[in-house]
Order: sequence, then structure tokens, then C-alpha cells
Amino acid sequence: MERKKALITGITGQDGGYLAELLEGKGYEVFGLKRRVALEDQSARRSFSGTAIPCDITNYGSVTAALLKVMPNEVYHLAAQSDVAYSFKDPFQTLDVNIQGTTNVLEAIRHNKPDAKFYFAGSSEMFGNVLEEPQTEKTPFNPRSPYGISKAAGFFLTKNYREAYNLFACSGILFNHESPRRGKEFVTRKITDAIAKIKAGEQNFVTLGNLDTKRDWGFSKDYVEAMWLMLQQDKPDDYVIATNESHTLEEFLSEAFSHVGLNWKDHVRTDPSFIRPSDVITLRGDYTKAHTKLGWEPKIKFKELVRMMVESDLERLQKR
Ligand code: NDP
Ligand code: GDP
Repeated sequence: MERKKALITGITGQDGGYLAELLEGKGYEVFGLKRRVALEDQSARRSFSGTAIPCDITNYGSVTAALLKVMPNEVYHLAAQSDVAYSFKDPFQTLDVNIQGTTNVLEAIRHNKPDAKFYFAGSSEMFGNVLEEPQTEKTPFNPRSPYGISKAAGFFLTKNYREAYNLFACSGILFNHESPRRGKEFVTRKITDAIAKIKAGEQNFVTLGNLDTKRDWGFSKDYVEAMWLMLQQDKPDDYVIATNESHTLEEFLSEAFSHVGLNWKDHVRTDPSFIRPSDVITLRGDYTKAHTKLGWEPKIKFKELVRMMVESDLERLQKR
């Protein structure tokens, strides 16, 4: 039997790496779009054993060429400007990559490989200033950042291509998910990276913004499995992927610092420059639909996730 082909945009990111490994393990031939970045730190970008295709998703010609080259069975569209704080600083680039980029991928599929199954990386940031607790697939969106707005647009584009052109197009509404591979601009990894450096005597403090925030934090490796499951169903649909647990940032700090015998209050400073013009205060996702229809549930919960990330950063620093 011929191997299934998967095309992943955003393969060099956190989720792209785990997803490529999952699909390779299932026997897929994996292709990933990789753009050139100046002065790139290779260690921060995931390497993978599949075929890399040079492509910036903001260019329709390049996206079409990549699609024609691979003619994939499944497309996982993960590429995005994914940093919420940065989306306030450069909304133009965020909207370009996240909305235009998504339109490019959908149009390329519609015109060239309409039977390819499509996954869109939607986000709990679309719920923004939440209108109900916990959030489900039926909760209205109320985004609070250019990033959240761009993801809501991507979600509705995906739904529209499903309804208008009959594409097998799904959105995952994924709540925050972390791992030792999470970018250091996100608060969890910023903290665990700092803890390792504090233990090594390289610094004494980590400087953060709004501590008064709650998130539903899960493990990236669990979440990429849900992406794959969505594309194995008979019908395309949208699913919340979460843990249904919400923890404060202070709980994260407490768990992470106490794991190495430190009190977070001795090592955390705040700086208003890290506070966003408008922030999402609380998130908690109800994954009942994913559990019922996909048989999915999170395996790694909060405490294990925090410890895994702290241990990994300690180990990384020791190896250096
Ligand atoms: P990352 O930021 O780790 O990865 C983003 C990826 O997108 C990178 O591979 C990056 O490539 C690529 N990319 C960005 N701009 C372009 C471009 N113009 N052309 C081509 N590639 C580009 O994100 P994650 O892996 O954490 O997340 C994956 C997806 O899921 C994203 O869409 C994110 O917004 C979404 N999401 C993530 C959540 C999370 O908690 N992690 C929660 C909900 C949604 P490069 O290496 O070149 O920068
Ligand atoms: P997000 O939920 O996708 O925005 O993920 P982040 O990890 O970037 O932020 C999670 C929450 O932590 C948000 O409410 C931020 O305002 C808050 N936060 C507090 N201090 C920081 C910080 O120094 N960096 C980041 N990235 N977030 C911070």
C-alpha cells in the first residue's frame, strides 16, 4: 500500500516537531514547509527527518508550488505568528501571516488537491474575554488581541471552505499547550528556563508581567495526537482540546520553583513593559466533545507538565 503523505506548515515549531514524529511513527511520508530566517538559531528550531520545502506561507505562489510538489493526503496548517504579546507590537505582520497565510493554504488546496484533508490550528485566544465558563465549541468568540482576532478569522475561513467548497476542513480549538520545546517567549518556558539559570548561579530573577492570570495548560505531545484524530473521522468538525483545569500563574511559579527547593517570591520581579494592552484573564476548556467523538483525553496534567519542563531545562544547562 502506498504511504500516506502529510504536509505540515510550521514544522519547525513546538507542535510541528511532535506532530512530524507522531506521523512518521504511523508510517506517513512527512513534508514540512521551512522558511529561511536570518541569523537563525538552529537549536531553537526543530529538525525533522522528512523533506523540507522552502516556503513562506504569505506567498501564494510558493504555497501552491509546495502543494503541487507533495500532493498530500493531509495538510496540517500550524504555521503562524503565534506570540500574543508580539501581535500587539506588529499587528500587520500577525494578520498577514495568520489570515493571508491561511487563505493561501486553503485556496491552494481548493484549486489543486480538493480531496486533501485540512487541519487549522485554532486557539483558545479566540475566546478572549470569556463569555462562559468552561469554554466549549459553542462558546462565542470574544478575542482580545490581534493574534486572537487573526485566529478567529482563520477558524471562520476554515468553516467557510468546509461549507462552501465541501473541503474536509477541521479546526482544533487548542488551549495553551507546553513542553520542553516551547519557545522561551511564552511564560511557562520563560520561567523554567530562568529556574535552571538561577540554580546554575547565572541569574537571580525572572521578570514577568501580569501575574494575575489563569490558563488551562496541557502537553503539546498529547495535543498533536488530537490533530491527527480529527482528520481520521468520517466528517470534518471543530473540537476543543484542553484539560478542563485552570491554574493561576502563581500556582505555576510555586510548583516550578518548589520543585528545585526555591521560593518563587524570592526570584520573581514584575515589569509593566511585559503587560499587554489587553490580556486574557482566564481560560478553561471543556473537551467533552473530543473525548466522546475522538476518544481523546489529555494524558499529562499540570503538575507533571511543570516538573517535566523544569527537569528538562536543568538537564539542558548541565549538558552545556
Ligand atoms: P511555534 O511558534 O512554536 O511555531 C510556529 C511555526 O510557524 C514555526 O515553525 C514558524 O517557523 C512557522 N511560521 C511562522 N511564520 C511563518 C511564515 N510566514 N511562513 C512559514 N512558516 C512560518 O507555535 P506552536 O508550535 O506552539 O503552535 C502551532 C500552531 O498552533 C500555531 O499556529 C499556534 O498559533 C497555534 N496554537 C498554539 C497554542 C500553544 O499553546 N502552543 C495554542 C493554540 C494554538 P520559523 O521556525 O521559521 O519561525
Ligand atoms: P498566551 O496565553 O498564548 O498569551 O501564552 P503566554 O505564555 O504568552 O502568556 C500566558 C499568560 O501569562 C498571559 O496572561 C500573559 O500576560 C501572562 N504573562 C505574565 N508575564 C509574562 C511574561 O513575562 N511573558 C509572557 N509570555 N506572558 C506573561
